[in-house]
Amino acid sequence: MIRKLLRKVFTRAATPVRVEPALIPVARHGIRREQLSPAARKVCTTLQEKGHKAYVVGGAVRDLLIGHPPKDYDVATSATPEEVRALFRRSRIIGRRFKIVHVMSGPETIEVSTFRASQDATNANTDEHGRVLRDNVYGSQEEDASRRDFTVNALYYDPTTETIVDYHHGVADVQQKTLRMIGDPRTRYREDPVRMLRAVRLAAKLGLEIDPAARHPIRDMAVLLENVPAARLFDEMLKLLFSGYAVRCLQQLREEGLHHGLLPMLDVILEQPMGERFVWLSLENTDERVRQDKSVSPGFLFATLLWHEVLAAWERKKERGEHSQPALFEAMDEVLDTQAGKLAITRRIAGDIKDIWALQPRFDKRVGKTPYRLIEQPRFRAGWDFLRLRAQAGEIPMEIPDWWDRFAHAGHDERETLLRQAPVEAPPAKKRRRRKRKPNETGAADEPAGDEAA
Ligand code: ATP
Ligand code: MG
Repeated sequence: MIRKLLRKVFTRAATPVRVEPALIPVARHGIRREQLSPAARKVCTTLQEKGHKAYVVGGAVRDLLIGHPPKDYDVATSATPEEVRALFRRSRIIGRRFKIVHVMSGPETIEVSTFRASQDATNANTDEHGRVLRDNVYGSQEEDASRRDFTVNALYYDPTTETIVDYHHGVADVQQKTLRMIGDPRTRYREDPVRMLRAVRLAAKLGLEIDPAARHPIRDMAVLLENVPAARLFDEMLKLLFSGYAVRCLQQLREEGLHHGLLPMLDVILEQPMGERFVWLSLENTDERVRQDKSVSPGFLFATLLWHEVLAAWERKKERGEHSQPALFEAMDEVLDTQAGKLAITRRIAGDIKDIWALQPRFDKRVGKTPYRLIEQPRFRAGWDFLRLRAQAGEIPMEIPDWWDRFAHAGHDERETLLRQAPVEAPPAKKRRRRKRKPNETGAADEPAGDEAA
């Protein structure tokens, strides 16, 4: 009891040691205010004109220092959410637990948060594993810096003076290409196990080495991810998969022992012997698209990740004598029913996944009016991308996506020629006898032919 009290007194007394931040001038870091988005600058200057502190903080400063284009901008300020809201017409307060303000400016949304106090036992609610459940106390800039995860994420850039305020030697760490945790890594992982995933993602994306002190505990502490709500893990996995470095991230997750049994999504990705080639091809393809600034969608990616499970279920059903098309739809539902809950796939995404799968057998029908109808489908492009990936993985001949590409881009006469050249009917199914169809018959044209795609 007395020991407990003494510890309490001494740890309390130990905390308020003030850290003087380094003020790093532009000559040493090189970030000019013109490199920021106009909206981020505007938000900072408006707040500063009203007497508040305001800085660009977090990922954007880190990325600019490293030479990556920032994905988006976060601003940290001494103003309260209500004060921020009152200054910008197009803004809204979001979040009930900890309010932040979204300020809209042109096409951009800047996330503005008030300096927050650090998460320690005195002001945070934790669960029995030490995971922080609530941390909703405003604080000083110094406290705000200490509650951030990595030193490179705790840099405050002032667009007016072009100075970086650096409390934790983040600029030096960027220069040494080190991802270092602020504070004791074990404590910080216990407070929020998602930081383990962030460490891997940021290191892989930015080419940083995780500092050994932050790297070593990951293997032991990975199990704490089990206590993180599924929706939060899902968001983090999406960030990882769409970081443009998914392949590298996943390899590193595997190396750090973070893949097995903890993240259902990774089990799906890394542990499918049949679909492995397809899944990696799809991830490489996603990385390439993200880096080229092309659109990517969770629906498409999950459709690829789960496709080989669908194929297997479909095949089993057909072997039992079920008809191809209903068998496919049943297989799709079966796979989604098991995986959607586990992976926290939302209903909307599940709908997108199904659309892409359901289109696949329709690419086998290259007769009559069917192809004309198919290329008018709003999901044709996504379906075709998926088809091409299947061909690249060796599941179907490359001739099929090539034919569809030519057909989609051809004029009327060329289309008719292509239709004459295309195989009238795909190879017959193994078990079912099919009704012979005349070359130009279009009845039931929009129904998937099915069998061949498996
Ligand atoms: P990116 O946006 O490129 O994915 P980021 O570092 O900006 O990376 P955000 O999720 O946008 O990531 O978070 C913004 C900032 O908030 C981070 O830079 C970090 O300072 C802080 N932060 C985010 N998540 C955590 C966390 N789990 N623990 C502590 N600080 C965090
Ligand atoms: Mg960010």
